[in-house]
Amino acid sequence: MGYMPVIGLEIHAELMTRTKVFCSCETGFGSERNSHVCPVCLGMPGALPVLNQKAVELAVSAGLLLGCEITRTTRWDRKNYFYPDLTKAYQISQLYAPLCLGGGLEINGRFIRLNRIHLEEDAGKLVHERNVSILDYNRAGVPLIEIVTEPDIRSSDEAVEFVERIRRNLVYGDICDGKMEQGSLRVDANISVMPEGSDVYGTRSEIKNINSFRFIKRAIEFEIERQIGVLENKGRVIQETRRYDEASGETFSMRSKEDAHDYRYFPDPDILPLFISDEDIAAIREKLPEPPHIRFLRYTDSYGLSAKDAETILSERFTADFFDAAVKNGADPKAASNAVRGELLRCVRESGGNEIPIGAEDFTKALVLAAKNAITQEGLKTALSYMFFNRADLDTAVKVNNLLVSEDAGLIGTVISEVLAASPDIVSKYKDGNQRVFSYLFGQCVKRLKGKALPATIDAELKKGLSEL
Ligand code: ADP
Ligand code: MG
Ligand code: ZN
Repeated sequence: MGYMPVIGLEIHAELMTRTKVFCSCETGFGSERNSHVCPVCLGMPGALPVLNQKAVELAVSAGLLLGCEITRTTRWDRKNYFYPDLTKAYQISQLYAPLCLGGGLEINGRFIRLNRIHLEEDAGKLVHERNVSILDYNRAGVPLIEIVTEPDIRSSDEAVEFVERIRRNLVYGDICDGKMEQGSLRVDANISVMPEGSDVYGTRSEIKNINSFRFIKRAIEFEIERQIGVLENKGRVIQETRRYDEASGETFSMRSKEDAHDYRYFPDPDILPLFISDEDIAAIREKLPEPPHIRFLRYTDSYGLSAKDAETILSERFTADFFDAAVKNGADPKAASNAVRGELLRCVRESGGNEIPIGAEDFTKALVLAAKNAITQEGLKTALSYMFFNRADLDTAVKVNNLLVSEDAGLIGTVISEVLAASPDIVSKYKDGNQRVFSYLFGQCVKRLKGKALPATIDAELKKGLSEL
């Protein structure tokens, strides 16, 4: 019998606020353990939380980017459970009146609905070392949004693509830095399987805290196969929480799954409900960047870029912003796209950074020089990487590297004669009818004429030189 997987995701994203959600401790990652803590985030009795306005703004921004309805009256609830990383023995979360409802994203023509987005606090971290476990509360109280989907996802690939899209929106909106390896974005995957053609969902298991795209795919695939195996052997899938083991690629049972009532949720009496007005929402909407899927349509429909090229430029916000600034400056979109995806992304990779330190105006002018053949395509690359690594302007880059093509007929003739004289064997092969060796000779000339002649001229002159031999 065939089975259809049913998947719903809970995506936890840490918000990029300077301070925590209910106190004024800093949120920075990688600081000395327990250096960003106070009575509030350590959960001391009697300490009172104060809501961080910026966290609410970022959560609302996420809701707007993902098409949610923003709840006008939102409240916070206590989710009670004990674990050493949660000193209060409750997490401040939202169950009954979350900030955002509904919304969703289209993935390859299928609309994946969101159930809700709510704002909550992160817990601390348990760091296990050889014989001890160390508690680090720097993360306790860092604002999180939890983005919960409806069980609309049908494959591991779709799940990965969905998380990528969510991540991209959050990064574009300066809402979350999206660094999965640092735990800024973590995914719980709920998975069940049902017989093909059925519309009754099976019992699900929930795999907690998956922290890379590769593991999302593998964990889901393993879990689908495991559940099918259970059903094929006439067993029953039990509702439980599982963890994914990266080393073995398998999931293991942690505990039977709790229901909402197990947490004894109740309204937190320390935090008042929050009323969000139309004006508040309009002000937040005003500050939102153009979302990536809208930019995608602009790139493909108005600029004629291929979907693949548009995706490459959109994969990071700084490359998309750089590209947009150039086009706004009058750059030809196709030429700009080629340069960004080629030489500039190469420079970015080489530098290991995440910026393109070249002015839009200089970049545009460089493209124009290349279009007019005033510099060669090779010269354009040289100019771009020189500007990139030396933070130089275009004039300097062109001068220092001597890039302006001044077609010096004398020089071209001399170089061609030298190249031909240096490789008599190859020349004779060519003369014997081996056309393929031409590219070697051509390459030698290009190298030695470094931007002093256009490729078309070299091609013509070299052929002429060979025919005269
Ligand atoms: P909880 O808060 O207890 O984890 P929810 O009912 O809010 O439970 O659902 C959490 C996630 O589980 C949601 O993403 C939802 O889409 C998903 N889900 C619910 N039922 C199923 C199912 N039968 N199979 C797969 N996923 C499911
Ligand atoms: Mg859950
Ligand atoms: Zn604090």
